[in-house]
Amino acid sequence: MEPQTNWRATLADNLAQVRAEMAQAAARAGRSAADVRLVAVTKYVELPVLRALLDLGVQDLGENRVQQLTQRAAALASDPAARPRWHMIGHLQRNKVRALLGACRMIHSLDSRRLADELEVEAQRSGRDVDVLIEVNVSGEQSKQGLTESAVGDLCEHLGRLSRLRLRGLMTMAPLVDDPQRVRPCFAKLRELLWELRRRGVVEADCRELSMGMTQDYVQAIEEGATLVRVGSALFRNVAATE
Ligand SMILES: *Cc1c(COP(=O)(O)O)cnc(C)c1O
Repeated sequence: MEPQTNWRATLADNLAQVRAEMAQAAARAGRSAADVRLVAVTKYVELPVLRALLDLGVQDLGENRVQQLTQRAAALASDPAARPRWHMIGHLQRNKVRALLGACRMIHSLDSRRLADELEVEAQRSGRDVDVLIEVNVSGEQSKQGLTESAVGDLCEHLGRLSRLRLRGLMTMAPLVDDPQRVRPCFAKLRELLWELRRRGVVEADCRELSMGMTQDYVQAIEEGATLVRVGSALFRNVAATE
């Protein structure tokens, strides 16, 4: 057994397991597996692993740093068969917006009016629309990025005045806890917040994405309504691509 040649099989097994758990969680919640999309978070691994994921049918990749995302997007773009949808999931600085826009399909981490305005300016310059999610700090932990629940409505209304940003939903990061059941209320809160914004007409009816759930808690997140789960570590257990 050569570890160097075996990592692809391990990766395929890990992916199959994550997909199976996603489907079971969706079924338990009476949801269709097709309503939940896996965003593979690739910040821990090298380019050959990204290519292998695409070969295995993964279509969505996420990174939390602009430079790594744009470099990897450029590296993969030379192969027309490997064109993932890129998701920016980490904190975004305004001075990085221009570099990011051409490469990225969805930004999960919109957390201020100033960032929205910068995105709008750059989107207009480049003549393209940008899909965004507002990052919400539902747990109230000081260390977490994101807006408080009460500030979200204001930013939604502001986005309504911008022409190039399409608000697709909300994102959150749950606190790190020993028992994943304890994060359930955070996910439920995000879902209820989005419902409430739709009910009040603050956001459009097609604003329905809930980006929530990582390795520790994607099962609970799907049971609570996640439409996008951002999973890294679970995919890369025992995968060390050394070729
Ligand atoms: C790294 C990261 C993830 C994936 O975390 P895992 O626990 O490895 O699944 C998800 N979301 C964000 C914002 C991240 O930075």
